[in-house]
Amino acid sequence: MAQLSDDCFAFGGSLLGIDAARAMIFERVVPVAGVERVLLRQSLGRTLAEDIAAPINVPGYDNSAVDGYAARFDDLDPARPTNLRCVDRIAAGHDPSGALAPGIAARIFTGALLPEGADVVIMQEDCERDGEHVTIRPGIKRGANTRRAGEDVAHGSIALTAGRRLGPADLGLLAALGFVEVPVRRKLTVALISTGDEVREPGEPLRRGQIHDANRYILAGLLERLGVDVSDRGIVRDDPAKLNDALQRAAAESDLIITSGGVSTGEEDHVRTAIANHGSLYFWRLAIKPGRPVAMGQIGATPLAGLPGNPVAALLTFALVARPMIEALGAATPHVAKRFRVVSDFAYKKKTGRREYVRASLEGNKARRYHKEGAGMLTSLTETDGLVELPEEITRLEPGAAVDFLPYSELI
Ligand code: AMP
Ligand code: MG
Repeated sequence: MAQLSDDCFAFGGSLLGIDAARAMIFERVVPVAGVERVLLRQSLGRTLAEDIAAPINVPGYDNSAVDGYAARFDDLDPARPTNLRCVDRIAAGHDPSGALAPGIAARIFTGALLPEGADVVIMQEDCERDGEHVTIRPGIKRGANTRRAGEDVAHGSIALTAGRRLGPADLGLLAALGFVEVPVRRKLTVALISTGDEVREPGEPLRRGQIHDANRYILAGLLERLGVDVSDRGIVRDDPAKLNDALQRAAAESDLIITSGGVSTGEEDHVRTAIANHGSLYFWRLAIKPGRPVAMGQIGATPLAGLPGNPVAALLTFALVARPMIEALGAATPHVAKRFRVVSDFAYKKKTGRREYVRASLEGNKARRYHKEGAGMLTSLTETDGLVELPEEITRLEPGAAVDFLPYSELI
């Protein structure tokens, strides 16, 4: 039987820093997801499995960026209006009747092929048409209002790199390149388990001391957004045998197990004990607040993230621990949440050596701390915009100080 103390003191008995935990995740969790080809329309949110080299130029030909007149730059007088005869009319999707002869302009529309010889397009607003002739205002630069073949994506260049989670614009780029199918990583299956004798399904009447399961709904939502298949395994009692049984089955049938609750140091915290006794525990305490008790380990060959029971802590540690594990398993490029510099409007005291996250709303560039505390407070999530991140070394914060703000849209 594995000794808990062996595992928890494996990093010197102190709390593990979040950066070290992240490094450990990417070191220990290896990709499992194989490759499949899916139709472009079905690839949204999937992880690209290969670098995509452009099979063609985009745009494929030199063309006009505006509605106007194509001309030869050297025909234009830089100081006064130039009058040119206009012979051709080139609409998008149609061929010019030939090359543009010297001293001649051509009526042209946005996206239409630039005739050979033309190296500038003058917007129609800067021209005056009079029958067969057009008068062009001076001051245009060579190449203006033209789009060159391959200027967006050059034939043979890497348009998208392996590991990218495909978004709508990526699908647009792949479509422009002519792809019908895309190589993506197989979807991961993530087993989701809530633990706790007090936890009940929404819809069930509550006796005193019982609560509805909020975490499974938060976590399932986060997982679905990451494009994994959620294997919902319900609520498991605080019973070592039942919990172990549920973990073993989940391990056999999924790529990752995510639990909430039962990872703290109390006698009823059986998740950590189950991992330690029936698998390997890599860490179970992080130097963060909220969310200090959070376990990472494996049952059999299946990695497990044991998130804390308090909903705010569960959400934060999902972002900090479970999400990187999903990225590592799915060979996805790790997401790095962008922080935005804002001004704190609150004072705060904290311990050195741990990173703290304070729920806050933004008013302009001012971060206003939420008026209620507590890692179990669901409204502290629904009524704020994100988290102020206070680094390890800080011990006090004064109003007016510059701080890093992590909007939820970046975090999760
Ligand atoms: P634990 O980590 O199991 O000690 O739980 C910490 C706190 O989170 C307790 O107040 C639990 O009742 C609460 N909690 C645990 N699981 C859930 C859940 N699924 N939904 C909402 N709250 C929970
Ligand atoms: Mg519990």
